[in-house]
Amino acid sequence: LDPQRSPFITEVKEKLTKVFGLRDFRTNQLAAIIATLSGQDVLVLMPTGGGKSLCYQLPALCHGKKKKGVTFVVSPLIALMHDQVQQLQLRHVDAQLFTGEQEISDREMLSSRLLGTGEKPTIVYITPEKLHSSGQMTRILQFLYSRGEIARFVIDEAHLISSWGRDFRESYVSLRDLRRDYADIPIMALTATATREQQRDIITGLGLRDYLLLSQSFNRSNLRYAVLKKPTRTVDFIHKWIMDKYPQETGIIYCGGRDKCEKVAKQLRDLGLTAKHFHAEIDPHDKMRTMEEWKSGRCKIIVATIAFGMGIDKADVRFVIHHDMPSSLAGYNQETGRAGRDGKPSDCLLLYAFGDYSWQLDRIRKDEGLSEENKIRQNRDLDDMNHFCTNTTDCRRTQLLNIFHETFDPSACHGTCDNCTIPGHMIEEDVTTIASNLVEMFQSAQALGIKITKPMGVDVYRGSRKKELLNKQLDRLTHFGTGKTCDRARVERTLQRLLDDRVLNPAVGPSGSSGYSATYIELGENSQQWLERRQTRMIIKIRVPS
Ligand code: ADP
Repeated sequence: LDPQRSPFITEVKEKLTKVFGLRDFRTNQLAAIIATLSGQDVLVLMPTGGGKSLCYQLPALCHGKKKKGVTFVVSPLIALMHDQVQQLQLRHVDAQLFTGEQEISDREMLSSRLLGTGEKPTIVYITPEKLHSSGQMTRILQFLYSRGEIARFVIDEAHLISSWGRDFRESYVSLRDLRRDYADIPIMALTATATREQQRDIITGLGLRDYLLLSQSFNRSNLRYAVLKKPTRTVDFIHKWIMDKYPQETGIIYCGGRDKCEKVAKQLRDLGLTAKHFHAEIDPHDKMRTMEEWKSGRCKIIVATIAFGMGIDKADVRFVIHHDMPSSLAGYNQETGRAGRDGKPSDCLLLYAFGDYSWQLDRIRKDEGLSEENKIRQNRDLDDMNHFCTNTTDCRRTQLLNIFHETFDPSACHGTCDNCTIPGHMIEEDVTTIASNLVEMFQSAQALGIKITKPMGVDVYRGSRKKELLNKQLDRLTHFGTGKTCDRARVERTLQRLLDDRVLNPAVGPSGSSGYSATYIELGENSQQWLERRQTRMIIKIRVPS
C-alpha cells in the first residue's frame, strides 16, 4: 500500500510539522507510522540515529481507525525514558512514566488516571518488569483493553528478547504474554541491532503476525573505523590520540570490566581530561549525575562498560574507543553506532590484544549460568570478533555489514576504514611451510605436556634465546628455530590463520606464577589433515603498501 494514499496521511503530516517541528520523514518512518495506524504489526530495523522514536511517538498522537487509545512503550532504560517523557512534555504531549524507581504516589496518580473516566495519557513509558509483574498494571491493562483504549504496544530494543548474543534480558521474555492476553492489539518492535537469528527470535517471541518488516542499510557512512594493536601504555596512547584529534570533544571509551573503567577514568583525569566512569555497580543517583554532566558537556569522556549506552541520545559523540575487544560484532556495531548521530565524521578506534580474546573465552567457559548452546553461540560470536580484529585486508564496513547479511562493496568505503586507507595492492603469500611446521611444533608441545601461548609459539619457531623459553627448555620442541629467517609478522599471520581455521585452538588455563589465566594453544579439530600432510597449501592474502 502506498503510504501517501493512506487515509491517515493528512493527520500524520500535520503532527510532523506542528508537534515535532520537522519537515520530512526519514527512510521507513512514514511506512512504519502508517502501518501501525492501520493496525498492522511492524518490525523496524533501523541503525542508531535513524529516528526510531518518531515511528511510535507520532502515531501515538493520531486517532487512527478508532478512538485514540494509550500507547504503551516498553523500554529497558530508565534514563532514556525520562528523557523522552521530558521532551514530549515540552511539546505538550501527555507522556507519562511507570517504573519501579519513581515515587509510589506518582504511580498511584497515573494509575487512577488510567482507571478513571477522564482524559487518558497519550503515551505511557514502562519497564518490562513493571509491565509483567505489577498487579496494578495488569489491572490497568485489562480495564483499558475491555474498553478498547489500548492503541498499541511498542517494544523498543526488541533484540533483548533474543537469547542470541549477550544482550538477552530475562524480563523481555514475559513480553510473549502480550499477544496471548491482548490478541488484537498491534505491536511495533524496534531495534538497531538484529542479525537474522535475532530477527527470528523477535518475531516468534512477540508472536508478530502479518507483520511489516522495515529494514534499511546499516552502513554508517560518517563513521571511520580502525583497529590497532593495543599499545603497552594504553592510557597514555589514548590520551595522546584524543589530544591530537579531539581535544575539546565528547567521546566514549568502552572497557571490559568495572575496575578497569574506574582505573582508566582516573588515569585520564590525572592527565587533565574530564573523564568519568560508568558501570552497572554505581548507584543510580551517581549514574544520573554522570549522565547529566556528560550530556551537558561538563564531562567530556565517559569510560564505561556496556552498561552505558543503550538509548543514549547524544548527537555529537565524536569518538568511541574500545580499550578492550567487545564480545561480538553485533555489540561492536551497537557501541560504535553511538558515535556521530548528528551525521558528522566521527572515529571508532578499537585497541586489540590477543590476551583480551583469551580473557573473554575464559569468562564464557566459567560462566555457570550459560547453557551449552549459549556457550557455543557466544564462542562463535567471539571468534568472529577476533577475526575482524586480525583481518588487515578486508574493508571493515564489508565485514561489519556482513552480520546483517548486507553486501557492501568496498569501493564505496572511500578510504574511511583503516584497511581501505592503506594505499597498496593485494598479494598472495604462500605460507604452507610455516603452517605445516607450526602444527608439528604444537603437536610436539602437546605430546610433551608443555603449554605454550601464541607469542611464545612465534618465539620458539623463530628460535628466540629468551631466558624464559630456555628455562622451560622449549628448545627441545620440534622446529625450534626452523623459522629463524622468517619475518615475525608473517609467522604471526600464519598462526592466526591456523587459529581461524581451527587447525589450532586456544585453550585457557592458569598461568604459572601470576594467578591469571592465560591462553595456550592446542591442536584443533582440523589439525589431522595437516599432520597427515593431506593439506598441501595455505595462501594468505595481504595488502602491501605501495
Ligand atoms: P534512534 O532511536 O533510531 O537512534 P532517534 O529517534 O533518537 O534515533 O533520532 C535520532 C535523531 O534524529 C534525533 O535527534 C531526532 O530528533 C532526529 N530525527 C528523527 N527523525 C527525524 C526527521 N524525520 N527529520 C529530522 N530529524 C529527525
